[in-house]
Amino acid sequence: MERKNGWEIWDESKIKEVFAYCEDYKEFLSINKTVRKFVKSCIEKSKEKGFKNIDELNVIKKGDKFYKINKGKEVIFGIIGDKKLTDGCRFIVAHTDCPRIDLKTSPLYEDENIALFKTYYYGGIKKYQWLTIPLALCGVVFLKDGTFKEIEIGEKDNDPVFVITDLLPHLAKEQYKKTIEDGFPGESLNAFVGTVPDKSKDKEKVKSNVLKILKEYYGIDEEDLVSAEIELVPAGKSKDAGIDKSMILAYGQDDRVCSYTSFTALLNSYNPINNIFCILVDQEEIGSRGSTSASSSFFEYFIEEVLEKSGYSILDKRKLFENSKAISADVNTLLDPNFKDAYEPRNAGRINCGVVLTKITGARGKSGSTEPTGEYVAYIRKIFDKNNVLWQPGEIGKLELGGGGTVASYFARYNIDTVDCGTGVLSMHAPFELTGKIDVYSTYEGYKVFYQEE
Ligand code: MN
Ligand code: MN
Repeated sequence: MERKNGWEIWDESKIKEVFAYCEDYKEFLSINKTVRKFVKSCIEKSKEKGFKNIDELNVIKKGDKFYKINKGKEVIFGIIGDKKLTDGCRFIVAHTDCPRIDLKTSPLYEDENIALFKTYYYGGIKKYQWLTIPLALCGVVFLKDGTFKEIEIGEKDNDPVFVITDLLPHLAKEQYKKTIEDGFPGESLNAFVGTVPDKSKDKEKVKSNVLKILKEYYGIDEEDLVSAEIELVPAGKSKDAGIDKSMILAYGQDDRVCSYTSFTALLNSYNPINNIFCILVDQEEIGSRGSTSASSSFFEYFIEEVLEKSGYSILDKRKLFENSKAISADVNTLLDPNFKDAYEPRNAGRINCGVVLTKITGARGKSGSTEPTGEYVAYIRKIFDKNNVLWQPGEIGKLELGGGGTVASYFARYNIDTVDCGTGVLSMHAPFELTGKIDVYSTYEGYKVFYQEE
């Protein structure tokens, strides 16, 4: 299939929209680097547009806009349209968690008069990419009395940052001989925290001083770190990339690019015919097993609540699911000229050629794929073409090289037609991932069409 480049075919006024949209997107990414912050900011934005917590609604009717939040880390937004709920709904599901470096539960120790944090990487990272870059410490510490303390160090201009060191090339002869997998053991990914000693102590003086600072500024003790969700993320703001500012280099675009585009597409869908929902899940990068992940019953119970409050029976969920359509909104890869061998060029997506529609995910003989029916893919093609959405087919690289899955299966299992469709990303899972602005915007447009088309 011929791919069209958005820069070639879109006119000036549309390009203006692209740049304006991407400014907001970059800003949103820069200030929301944890799942909790991302979820909270989306809720705040939705409230400005009149969305209400579903708990406040006893009855749900046409035109109602609401959200339901799960433990601060998962959220579903919905708008009730003209259609009956049993005629089906439109679901777009994306994940807001991203690869990162978590602190271990007992992280702080001292070695050679340096205080360090033991860490545990979250998600599939190439560990060496996370060494020697400035890292910000973000998250929440939960105390036994039920209160919590928020931490964010490294994002303001004058904030200090944290770093995981790497071996100097002068001494790396042995390191060079190792494979990338063996060369960077997880237990060596320890972040530097401080070097000033607490002179009043006899031993572990530097660690003691760090604990003093944590107590003074955040009111937390060492033990409290056991119930903390603290992570190290790349410090600094999202940036335009390229001399023509045509791309975005930012942390967390997998999958916050699809989270942001599906969420804003829903926010900007006024009086929809369809009943439309945006589901932002957690823990996709570690296998979707937790209570705030796509495998949680939260989604199903939410649908039951919507049915009940709309005057239907809970059993109507069978009809609702059967007649619904879903997009599993996750990123795909794009052909990278630096690593051409990893891609099969006929089927690989290209930067700036639009949102990527992926019929087949998984790996090796489609293992793990959630393959949609041909009819459903034809439907998506039809509504995209009818509305001039710039889109392209894509796949995750050459067949036997690897592959990947998404949360599609958790929605397909309800007998909901589900297809993977999302933005193409380069350097996926790196501290800073690269996208094309045309692709970000066409993802937004594609999702909006999906919500609005009959
Ligand atoms: Mn993803
Ligand atoms: Mn991922």
